[in-house]
Amino acid sequence: MVTCWARSIGNCSTKQSLEHFISANLFGREVAVRGFRWCPSEFKTIGIGSAGAKILCTTHNTALSELDQAAGRAKRVLGEMARAREDRVVTLRVLGPRRFRVRRYAIDGHLIERWAIKCLAGLFSATGQDEDRWSRTQTDPIEPPPALVNAAFGVNKLTYPMGLYYAHRIGQAVEYSDGLRLEPLLDGGSTNPKNEIPGTQPRTGLAAMLFMFLGIRFVIWLSSEPINLFKPRGADVSGMGRLTFAYRPLTVTIDQGGVPSQALNLTW
Ligand SMILES: [Zn+2]
Repeated sequence: MVTCWARSIGNCSTKQSLEHFISANLFGREVAVRGFRWCPSEFKTIGIGSAGAKILCTTHNTALSELDQAAGRAKRVLGEMARAREDRVVTLRVLGPRRFRVRRYAIDGHLIERWAIKCLAGLFSATGQDEDRWSRTQTDPIEPPPALVNAAFGVNKLTYPMGLYYAHRIGQAVEYSDGLRLEPLLDGGSTNPKNEIPGTQPRTGLAAMLFMFLGIRFVIWLSSEPINLFKPRGADVSGMGRLTFAYRPLTVTIDQGGVPSQALNLTW
């Protein structure tokens, strides 16, 4: 029996794919995860050496390979941005405050959103445990909500408030970090505590994931409740409560030394 998180779309092949579940060819040892039961408060690195996980059939794995290529292109662009930021930090230090010519970059936001869903579904399918559920559908990790599967394959787009957000902390400099950091966000039954039904068993589940992709933060949000109502289960190690969010922004402007330095354009 083939195990495939995209089963709800149909047409699974009879062959199991054993690909690594997160574009490991792109990030090597630089993928770190925090927030699951097996890594509650410290980042744990997922090495490229870990065995392939049985989470997609070959048909659906192949159909998603364009997303890894898109992530590869985004990685190059964000890498250039990170190096330019470093240069400007040095310039500011050596030459003092100044205005910069804003450098412009572009990535395909829609493909990155689809890739983020692929990472999340892959990571949760491969590492989820018995008690773990998707918050939206209360299904097992290997059965993501059908809306999410459709969005990953480009059949439908997620509708607001679900989708990709740019997240930042006001007044905090963007820090450069290598690779990819993933923080799954588990809710305590509902992202909006007012909607919990008194006396019922609280449902817990995966509601979102925070991405730190070469220093730039994104959140993929899977709940029909507004993102700013998110209440984590347990301690908020992710710092979500201190972040500001922009839904599918067309431009992200990054300041340096208090003046605009870089602009990232996104297409959706
Ligand atoms: Zn399949």
